Amino acid sequence: MEDVGHFIGGKRVAGTSGRSQDIMQPMDGSVRGKVALASAAEVRAAVENAKAAQVGWANTNPQRRVRVLMKFLELVHREYDELAELLAREHGKTIPDAKGDIQRGLEVVEVCIGAPHMMKGEYTEGAGPGIDVYSMRQPLGVVAGITPFNFPAMIPLWKIAPALACGNAYVLKPSERDPGVPMRIAELFLEAGLPAGVLNVVNGDKEAVDAILDDPDIKAVGFVGSTPIAQYIYGRATANGKRAQCFGGAKNHLIIMPDADMDQTVDALIGAGYGSAGERCMAVSVAVPVGKETADRLVEKLIPRVESLKVGPSTDASADFGPLVTAQALERVKGYVDLGVKEGAKLLVDGRGFKMQGYEDGYYMGGCLFDNVTKDMRIYKEEIFGPVLSVVRANTYEEALALPNDHEYGNGVAIFTRDGDAARDFAARVEVGMVGVNVPIPVPIAYYTFGGWKASGFGDLNQHGPDAFRFYTKTKTVTSRWPSGVKDGAEFVIPTMN
Ligand code: NAD
Repeated sequence: MEDVGHFIGGKRVAGTSGRSQDIMQPMDGSVRGKVALASAAEVRAAVENAKAAQVGWANTNPQRRVRVLMKFLELVHREYDELAELLAREHGKTIPDAKGDIQRGLEVVEVCIGAPHMMKGEYTEGAGPGIDVYSMRQPLGVVAGITPFNFPAMIPLWKIAPALACGNAYVLKPSERDPGVPMRIAELFLEAGLPAGVLNVVNGDKEAVDAILDDPDIKAVGFVGSTPIAQYIYGRATANGKRAQCFGGAKNHLIIMPDADMDQTVDALIGAGYGSAGERCMAVSVAVPVGKETADRLVEKLIPRVESLKVGPSTDASADFGPLVTAQALERVKGYVDLGVKEGAKLLVDGRGFKMQGYEDGYYMGGCLFDNVTKDMRIYKEEIFGPVLSVVRANTYEEALALPNDHEYGNGVAIFTRDGDAARDFAARVEVGMVGVNVPIPVPIAYYTFGGWKASGFGDLNQHGPDAFRFYTKTKTVTSRWPSGVKDGAEFVIPTMN
């Protein structure tokens, strides 16, 4: 049994609030330990530590700062297997999938090694007589992140790496469901040479989050999680004068044109729909075949593939996906399947009854497949976040395009086709932040930015890529004139560059 407290001032500290929560192991429903839930006073202690440490860190030259990131990469590679197993046991995803979670985080750390270049300002010599203008990017100070359960390595790293590289100190409030890997990340950063106090991890729930949102010394908040919480955090953080970027839920469509390679499309749908038990914000949850013939061919090929999906414990590397994260999540997802049946959708594959032999207390269900789902059904409108794929049949390309365009969410979308003109038109007109052309999960690579539209993202700047360096710095612009420029005496007319 493990007691997880907080990581403040460069060391693990026990929680003092008297509140805690069980850390579960979804693959067998056992309790792994307890995680402390921080009080507002504990959050404040972390912020004070961070504030004191930030000054020296910001004054460390950027190349030295990123050497810590380089060393961190080396240390994670040393511990890859242990980290992946810890992640899989707390989250439920399989170990190979957990390795992918870590890897997508490390790719952002790698890009942040370019921070000295990304932070360079601009310079104009002779903008006016004797006048030079230059801009510089300075760190914000103390910044914070609130992250979801479903990528406990990747999403914290997407936030921590650019924030630290830019000279900020960080307070991370990871998901209380899988705090183990974020705590190890903080320890590995310390071992890599990050000064104590620059990165703090405070475990907790709404109480800790609200303390972050109201703390006057926290200058920016990055959030990833469900849409109602994203909206709440964006509202409260910005009302308190903080910079905020908050990413929410999703309902990602995959459009299948009549000319698409059907075997490739089915492979893509199976991986993107059911991988990680559908608990990815970029999971494909809606398949939209165009035309009756396309739909019939698709469904015929999908049924045996969904029926033969291999569900297994997180430690079974040959499993396609593992259990859901909690017993409540399992109930919620099964409840959506019940609802779909009631709403009149056709349940072609029913995974509700699946039991994992030898792991009867784990949170497992098999893959589910619905056909004839319509726009007005709740199973179409709402995010299910489980291994459930809905087929919505469209008669024409325009009808298919209107589906993601009219949907509340706008995170990811894909089109499968051999027609370049259709793909181009789709990429130009679809109202979604990240688009795949014959690519089912179009998570942009680390040097591009990641962010959804509409109810999937609140704020102006995306995660990683060039936007991250903008989000974690503020720009100062200096207009300077040296003594020879003031020989003429005082000027009473507003200076212009004529
Ligand atoms: P969640 O919204 O329940 O929790 C996210 C974070 O918010 C956690 O740290 C949690 O402790 C905190 N939180 C929860 N309730 C709160 C409250 N009432 N007040 C203040 N803070 C609160 O999300 P989750 O279940 O951990 O993650 C799954 C969700 O995240 C899905 O909706 C998924 O689509 C979304 N997600 C989005 C992206 C993206 O980039 N758009 C990426 C990953 C996950």
